This record gives sequence, structure tokens and C-alpha cells, in this order.
Amino acid sequence: AGLGLEDAALLRDRCFVGGHWMEADDGRRFEIRNPADGSLVATVPDLGRAEVRRAIEAANAAWPQWRASTGKQRAAILRKWADLMAAHREDLARLLTAEQGKPLKEARGEIDYAMSFLEWFSEEAKRIYGDTIPAPHGDQRIVVIKQPIGVSAAITPWNFPSAMITRKAGAALAAGSPMVVKPAEQTPLSALALAVLAERAGLPAGLFSVVTSSSPQEVGAELTGNSIVRKVSFTGSTAVGKILMRQCADTVKRVSLELGGNAPFIVFDDADLDAAVEGLIASKFRNAGQTCVCANRIYVQSGIYADFAARLAVRVKAMRVGAGTDPEVDQGPLIDEAAMRKVETHLGDARAKGAAVAAGGSRHALGGTFFEPTVLTGVSDDMLIASEETFGPVAPLFSFEDEAEVIARANATPFGLCSYFYGRDIGRVWRVAEALESGIVGVNTGIISTDVAPFGGIKESGLGREGSKYGVEDYLEVKYICLAGL
Ligand code: ADP
Repeated sequence: AGLGLEDAALLRDRCFVGGHWMEADDGRRFEIRNPADGSLVATVPDLGRAEVRRAIEAANAAWPQWRASTGKQRAAILRKWADLMAAHREDLARLLTAEQGKPLKEARGEIDYAMSFLEWFSEEAKRIYGDTIPAPHGDQRIVVIKQPIGVSAAITPWNFPSAMITRKAGAALAAGSPMVVKPAEQTPLSALALAVLAERAGLPAGLFSVVTSSSPQEVGAELTGNSIVRKVSFTGSTAVGKILMRQCADTVKRVSLELGGNAPFIVFDDADLDAAVEGLIASKFRNAGQTCVCANRIYVQSGIYADFAARLAVRVKAMRVGAGTDPEVDQGPLIDEAAMRKVETHLGDARAKGAAVAAGGSRHALGGTFFEPTVLTGVSDDMLIASEETFGPVAPLFSFEDEAEVIARANATPFGLCSYFYGRDIGRVWRVAEALESGIVGVNTGIISTDVAPFGGIKESGLGREGSKYGVEDYLEVKYICLAGL
């Protein structure tokens, strides 16, 4: 498809089910389009429930052997998979940009990030430790072992088409559990490329399947309803997460949810302002504002507000917008027209209620789904942008007076994924980090994602943690063995 891949086999147009590359039973396919220009990148099979059921059954059939393997054996395969990702980094990044739109430098960053989870969990596979507990009776011994949860399912979003899969599949496979992945309908090609590499790495058939479909409800109903599946891990919108959690109730599946955020980003008056501007740009405009940890509400202390806004506007006006394949570009297109409309709705509402545009503010002259990186000043809590995630390149600046006030405002949301703040006073740093209601807090940084630390939210932002030593726990069951009559 003119992507110029070194290894053309990484662009797959079939699904990977139970170790076979297959079409939909009825032969139906759907289109993947490049958000930068609307061009057709590929078509992929449009699976229904029957094929998904086969993927689940294949996973279940493959499970006993995988469960019985040693951590060292699982580690070797995951490590090989990671190494293959590293070897094909450039092709994987090109594929990602073609279907998702993010600038190539960000796509390369995502491939590195995605690879890091396979590497990390290959190491963790050897460290599935249990526990021994002093028993209440002398003739007893109490031992706790951890066992793989079994067949798991992942439903993943379009904004990180590669990393959201390895972060789940790496943990599941390290724990000894197979996984069936349903990638977002906008970005299945990165998922299929991962399957190509999993197969090359020698992962036994059935342990990792990728089911593509344009009917997420239908596939979701099978993944959540099938009693073989013991765990569903979802990254996406809060609305869909709640539906899946309800659907999982009937068979009491374990769920991990990584849902929307509404991240506050606080700049205190003792902050290094230039560092805060850079941190904000990194957090706010990554992937054109389309990440769940993007700063959404920027609170700037009143004494430095004007200075901070001016410095930010200068930097944002200098950002270059264009197709992700252009190496000079800082911001690619938004994913689709619906995303554009949400940004416009938030902007229109804010302006109607008195906010001023300090940079950007409109659709970009390039047309399509390109939007200008935007800074808003004079933003207040009654505006839509204060309570909803924009998921676009708009930085709204709120003003605040003191610490207690800003903590209350930052926490006045049902979401709790990530918070950021800049400040130097060590007492305040601890107080604020502990007071913010979120699973992640970035202090004097706008970038918090790493394989070694636990990623996840509280409140309506989700359940469970991914990555780190905690991530593997989500795919393990605890078994207590009481050995008596010694
Ligand atoms: P977004 O609005 O960012 O696209 P979604 O939550 O709609 O976020 O999508 C995230 C993932 O959830 C995608 O893989 C999508 O196909 C899937 N999805 C959407 N609706 C459902 C549903 N009703 N059941 C199962 N999966 C769904």
C-alpha cells in the first residue's frame, strides 16, 4: 500500500485465530483509512461472534501446556517477541502512523514503549512469587501460590494501537494466561503486525489471537459473555467500560479497566516556568491531545498566570502541524471528524462563556482532521472543557489563588487517572502529591508512562494497574493451600 515497509509481510490483511491466518466466515472485510489524507491503507476481515468463539476455544486448548511451562520458558519467548519488535521498529512505526496519524517520532516512541512491556514482562515471568503464612495450629502449614487466571480478552483503543496490546498481552502471557485481542476498528494493522512477530517468536498457536471487526458490540458480547473467558481487560472510554463491566457480571469475570481521565495540571508560583511550559506541551499535545493522560485542565497560580500564558502561546504557535510521515511535524491529524466536532464544541462553549484564544483556535488550513494547537485563557469552571475530557489539542488555562482551593478544584471530578503539578517547595510537593485523587501523579514532569511503574486510575477512571510488578497480578489467581495432619 505504498508504505515502503522493509518487511512487507508485517502488513497483514487477515486475522490471526488459533495460530491460523484467516478470513471472516462470510468473507466480509472493512476498510482502514489513513487519517492524514483519507486514503485506503488496507482492508481486514470483519469477524463475527462465531470466529471470536473459535479464538476463545483455541486459547483454552492452548492453555494447559502454557500453564505448565516454566517462567524461564515463557520469558524466552516474550523476550524474542520484544527483540523482533526492536528489529522491526521502523516498519512498525510506519504502519502505526499510517493507520493512526501520530507523527513518526511519536510512533517510534510508542513502538519502543510497546516493546518495553514485552521485555519487562519477560523478566517478570520468572518472578511469580507466592507466600508462606505461619499457621494457627502446629500440625498445619499454610502456603499461598499464584496461578494463571486463564483465558483473557483485551479490547484496545486506537490512540495507542501497539502499546495498549503489549501492556496487556505481555502481562497475561508472562502469568501463564492466553489472550484474545480485539483491536480498535480504526487501527487493527498494528495488532496484526504484533501477531506476525508473536508467531515468528515461537509463541505456541492459540495463545495470542487477534480478532478484527467493525462490530465491537458483537465481539464484545462474546468476549464478555463466554464463560471460558476469565478476565477482560479494556482500555477506552468510560461509557464503554461501564457496559463491559456490566456484561462481565453475569459470569463474574475479573475486569481491568483503563478509562477516561480529566487530568489537572497545576503550576504553582515557585515553579520553573520554562520547565512547566515544556512539561505541559509534552503532556497536552502528545498524539494531538488524544491520550487519556493528556493534561485537560491547566491551573496556573494568579501571580504567574500572564507570564505563563504568554510563554506557552509562543511555544504553541511555533508547533508544526501536518501528516505524521513528515519528519518536521509536531502534531498530526485527529482520528476522525467526530473528534474535530468535540474540540469545536468545547472551544465554542468556552468562547461563548468568555474565554479568549491566545493561540490557534480553528481548524487548520490543511483541512481534513487537522486542528490548530490551541491555548485558551480566562477559562472558568462552568465551561464544558472544565468537566469533560477534550481529547484534542486545546490547552485551557484556569487561574487559582491558593493550594487548598486548587486541590479542591482538581479533585472535583468523577475521574482520577493522572494529575500533574509543578512547584519546588518540598512540603507542598508532598502535601499536594498525597492530596490529589488520581492513580498517577507527575511532579515537575509531563511524562509519566514507563513499563516499570504502575499505570491506572481511581474513581471512574478504572480498575487495576498495568505495567510494573503490579501488572502481572491482574492475570493471577491466589490459591491458599492448607496442609494439615503433619
Ligand atoms: P473511543 O471513543 O476512544 O473510540 P471506545 O471506548 O469507543 O473509545 O473504543 C475503545 C475500544 O472499545 C475499541 O476497540 C472499540 O471497538 C471498543 N468498543 C466500543 N464499543 C464497544 C462495545 N459496546 N462493546 C465492546 N467493545 C466496544
